[in-house]
Amino acid sequence: MPELANARDTAEIIRKYGFSVQKRFGQNFLIDEHVLDKIIDAAQIDKSDGVIEIGPGLGTMTRRLGELAGKVVAIEIDRQLIPILSDTLSDCDNVKVINADVMKTDLKLLIDEEFGDMPVKVVANLPYYITTPIVMNLLEGRLAIDSITIMIQKEVAERMRALPGSKDYGALSLAVGYYADAYIAANVPPNCFMPRPKVGSCVIRLTVLKNPPVSVRDEKQMFALIRGAFNQRRKTLVNAVSNYEGLSFNKDEIEEALKELDLSPSIRGEALDLRQFAALSDVLT
Ligand code: SAM
Repeated sequence: MPELANARDTAEIIRKYGFSVQKRFGQNFLIDEHVLDKIIDAAQIDKSDGVIEIGPGLGTMTRRLGELAGKVVAIEIDRQLIPILSDTLSDCDNVKVINADVMKTDLKLLIDEEFGDMPVKVVANLPYYITTPIVMNLLEGRLAIDSITIMIQKEVAERMRALPGSKDYGALSLAVGYYADAYIAANVPPNCFMPRPKVGSCVIRLTVLKNPPVSVRDEKQMFALIRGAFNQRRKTLVNAVSNYEGLSFNKDEIEEALKELDLSPSIRGEALDLRQFAALSDVLT
């Protein structure tokens, strides 16, 4: 079986099956062995682990995951790829491929049925058109997973682990920080994929936290406040949140709450960290 993580074998498989690459599914196949090694190293997988791979593509990373993990379940949306995967993974007994959209898959049920008590890790070279919804689905679903190691667009990776005050800091940084510890394992240039994406990429590992780093009485309200604050990020927090239709606080109430926390009434959302958003939400509850 070819190693696949190189341009020659990838082009050969594509030609052999007359496969046409689907832009709409974000298909950029990995063709660099060293980058594959970096993802695998960052994921820290052993035989006791179960792995969910999102978007196995031609099976390049799936084969490696099968060698290292106890069991792999790979979820692929593109039905054209299923016969190719049956071929490229024909000797991988512990790999199961499911033809489905990960956004419409009940992952809680899948984990229960496929992995039982095994620790579960998610590993993927994600389709870039849908990165944030997939990641938020995995985190907000409070699934029994230990970590998420993914290749994503560099700009999104930078937003995920940005700190207050920086230009990349926003609702995504706060949401990821609430659920996970983020670590960037590698920067990856476009020439490591076929076809080449227009943007640079990063391998990022999100280690899922057992408990959130802050406690808040109403988690939903805190995230609504965060969304409101960054919805109009050039405005003060008071103006942005009071205009936000997902919430019904008026300017006076928000100013009063900020005062109670010793924060300026003209502060912007980008200056508050997670602990301060949690405190603001509790004062407003
Ligand atoms: N893992 C392969 C690799 O590294 O070469 C392919 C990665 S490619 C960037 C993204 C893969 O995700 C494609 O195979 C694509 O068809 C699949 N995909 C896109 N949207 C999906 C979805 N909603 N659910 C499951 N798979 C999806």
